[in-house]
Amino acid sequence: MPVPPPIAMLAELTHRCPLSCPYCSNPLELAAKAQELPTQTWIDAFDQAAALGVLQLHLSGGEPAARQDLVELVAGARAAGLYTNLITSGLGLTQARLEALSEAGLDHIQLSLQGTDAEMADRIGGMKGAFARKMKLAQWVSEIGFPLTLNVVLHRQNLHQLPRALEMAQEMGARRIEVATVQFHGWAMQNRNALMPSKAQADEAAALVAQARQNLKGRLVIDFVPADYHEDYPKRCMGGWGSSGLNIAPDGTVLPCHAAQTIPHLRFPNLREQSLSEIWYHSSGFNAYRGDDWMQEPCRSCALKTKDFGGCRCQALAITGDAAATDPTCIKSPAHQKLQAMADQFAGTEHAPLVMRENA
Ligand code: SF4
Ligand code: SF4
Repeated sequence: MPVPPPIAMLAELTHRCPLSCPYCSNPLELAAKAQELPTQTWIDAFDQAAALGVLQLHLSGGEPAARQDLVELVAGARAAGLYTNLITSGLGLTQARLEALSEAGLDHIQLSLQGTDAEMADRIGGMKGAFARKMKLAQWVSEIGFPLTLNVVLHRQNLHQLPRALEMAQEMGARRIEVATVQFHGWAMQNRNALMPSKAQADEAAALVAQARQNLKGRLVIDFVPADYHEDYPKRCMGGWGSSGLNIAPDGTVLPCHAAQTIPHLRFPNLREQSLSEIWYHSSGFNAYRGDDWMQEPCRSCALKTKDFGGCRCQALAITGDAAATDPTCIKSPAHQKLQAMADQFAGTEHAPLVMRENA
């Protein structure tokens, strides 16, 4: 099978962030500022990405606004012809900086919400006053006229705030809300006791989203990532390994997904040493789980393998110890019952302290 070109790229510009969300998917070993790619190397990467076929660029982190050269980077991406989306906590963006980003050609903003009131949002984000600053930013975003997506990570401690989050998205004039139940990678993995929703909560969130999709049809698009420890089938992780998207870590390591470095036997090249094209088409890390040659039973003979590609490799490794195993979220996986028992145990833990994400 010929390898298709990527269509989306996530540029993790930095791991620095003023917040310290315990569900952060950044790795435990954060890249220091001194390791970050310089401005021109990022701009070269955007040119290479566009030449490779990438259409959408997601600027992320950490908090991408921690980069002083953010406006220059957006201008570079725009000059390369990429559609640019800024994924931000809002901290570090002033009205003047937002206007400069608009002039540089930023197409879209995705704003994260840690809670729907100051008590919850400031506690989960680990910063007093963060919620108030975020609300101010939402107002500027609306005044400038950026298309907005609100991004909410749900977990046991804030899942009851989903109805209010849906209202807030409408009040802010967002066109889309991404409602993602916490995924256990990076720092979130340290917090499964504190964040795992119960099965009842997970079901309630799915029902609320289904109802809201009907009620808000034509007004608000709702993307939903369910609680996969409580599901019976895995999600199509990254649209399939190395099939449509790639990530660049702050130090220039090129990855098929943000958690791929947790798979210890894989090697991922750095943009400073190889071209994006070489890495996408020829690196062993990207080729490791393409197609279905690597699959074991029950995935190998399953009719759904072209739909979900066997689920998430990083989750398979984390739970079963084998990155080529069937994602244990799947009901056909021998580890499925173990995963659901773990989910119930984590969800039933009382008084688990939050392990806050450290800063880079
Ligand atoms: S999840 Fe929180 S701590 Fe992690 S990068 Fe986003 S805002 Fe920062
Ligand atoms: S067996 Fe594999 S391919 Fe089939 S549904 Fe489960 S994870 Fe998907």
